[in-house]
Amino acid sequence: MSDPVVSRTPDTQEDWQALADRLSIEGRARINGTYQWAENGETFASVSPVDGRELARVASCDQADANQAVTAARGAFERGIWSRQPPTHRKAVLLRFAELIEAHGDELALLETLDMGKPISHARAVDVPATARAIRWTAEAIDKVYGELAATPHDQIGMISREPVGVVAAIVPWNFPMIMASWKIAPALATGNSVILKPSEKSPLTAIRLAALAEEAGVPAGVFNVLPGYGHTVGKALALHMDVDCLVFTGSTSVAKQLMIYAGQSNMKRVWLEAGGKSPNIVFADAPDLKKAAAEAASAIAFNQGEVCTAGSRLLVEESIRNEFIVLIRDALKTWRPGHPLDPATTCGAIVDQAQLDRIIEYIDIGQAEGATLVEGGKRVMEETGGLFIQPTVFDGVQNTMRIASEEIFGPVLSVIGFRSAEEAIAIANDTIYGLAAAVWTSNLSTAHKTAKALRAGSVWINHYDGGDMTAPFGGFKQSGNGRDKSLHAFDKYTELKATWLLID
Ligand code: NAD
Repeated sequence: MSDPVVSRTPDTQEDWQALADRLSIEGRARINGTYQWAENGETFASVSPVDGRELARVASCDQADANQAVTAARGAFERGIWSRQPPTHRKAVLLRFAELIEAHGDELALLETLDMGKPISHARAVDVPATARAIRWTAEAIDKVYGELAATPHDQIGMISREPVGVVAAIVPWNFPMIMASWKIAPALATGNSVILKPSEKSPLTAIRLAALAEEAGVPAGVFNVLPGYGHTVGKALALHMDVDCLVFTGSTSVAKQLMIYAGQSNMKRVWLEAGGKSPNIVFADAPDLKKAAAEAASAIAFNQGEVCTAGSRLLVEESIRNEFIVLIRDALKTWRPGHPLDPATTCGAIVDQAQLDRIIEYIDIGQAEGATLVEGGKRVMEETGGLFIQPTVFDGVQNTMRIASEEIFGPVLSVIGFRSAEEAIAIANDTIYGLAAAVWTSNLSTAHKTAKALRAGSVWINHYDGGDMTAPFGGFKQSGNGRDKSLHAFDKYTELKATWLLID
């Protein structure tokens, strides 16, 4: 690969385009330290939603490649070349990995933008640093995690220790390809496991690059493998594999349920799931700053083109301010108009692929057919570019039972629902199969805490949207998943607890 690392970050669309023209893109799987095509010789096209161009042919891995990667991962694990290294060693290597991600930040950001359509300014300012931060934070923690001694009688010692679970398969989505991968690979590698990462077929390019950077940092061959390919082929093969000890997943609730079945049909591998959401953003009339609340409500549905698991897709507004608030949010959405993803001024990029765009348009049609009022957006735009763009869209007069309010759209489509009391807001907010995130805006401390406690969601934000950092566990209640990413709690997924009991003569 030509070295696309440049001394300064490009700051115009032309700079980014020039860098894109120089990129040589790797589409092969990374298995046991080498790049290789799928054993069956099959490939698929990585097509950019920015302009419809083919970026690369990508290995379409299947069962045979899964077997190879699992054998490599198991071999590396058993040899102890990583799993039995001191935590300080793994820490040093992972810190170098984080540095390399930062050093290759322009290249990685560009790959992410070209592959899945997000604005380059976000890929560069959010996705790259967040990925490096996840790896660095976790690396720094790993030599500070202690075991326990049980409260034993005088003649006994009970030691409780954590051991790596073994071979971890990580299946991730396309909306934040690198960040979602980093939330899995950082704690998995830090705790000494061998990893096989399966990126989404819609966004495989950065994962393939990350594996090479990890090895450059000192992760031994076979410890971090990447298998691009489809869910129903290589994803399924990993999920059913008898020698994968742990399956970690971020993606839709329907696939998450299928993975639990696969685990039951095979070796009862541990399954940890981060799934979908339909998060309520509750604005009381006494919110401290309605303009700020509206700006964040707009960002909560338009950032990353609404392709966010925690998108604030149900906006619950107290009736007394509903009309005023809709004016504010329509105004705030003016800063979220779709634009060319390589233009650094763009805030709203392209939708990942035609299927996802069709799905969003279908839901906009459904909303109108259900009787909701379209008050903003709703149209495909910039079609002449060959790219896939849609206006951020707002529906007013939505009932929580409508499909646009109960089903995850995964696009920039906001449902505004009115409420008259805190009790009603809480009831509407919790009336969903999901429980990933929620927000509440109020100046009243009691209302804030009462509502936050009553909300059945893994993350609750008060007077802002989408807060938290690596110190906060992230995951869902109900059908949004199980287990937690980020924070020290993430280590629970990647370790087995062992009780070693000693009798003293
Ligand atoms: P998806 O479920 O379609 O795919 C996710 C991954 O699973 C992909 O890599 C896909 O190839 C793979 N897959 C699909 N079918 C499979 C099968 N039968 N066996 C094994 N693997 C299979 O989800 P998506 O469209 O990529 O991403 C969008 C979804 O991800 C949304 O529902 C969103 O809410 C969710 N998401 C959740 C979080 C979270 O942390 N909770 C974060 C980001 C995205």
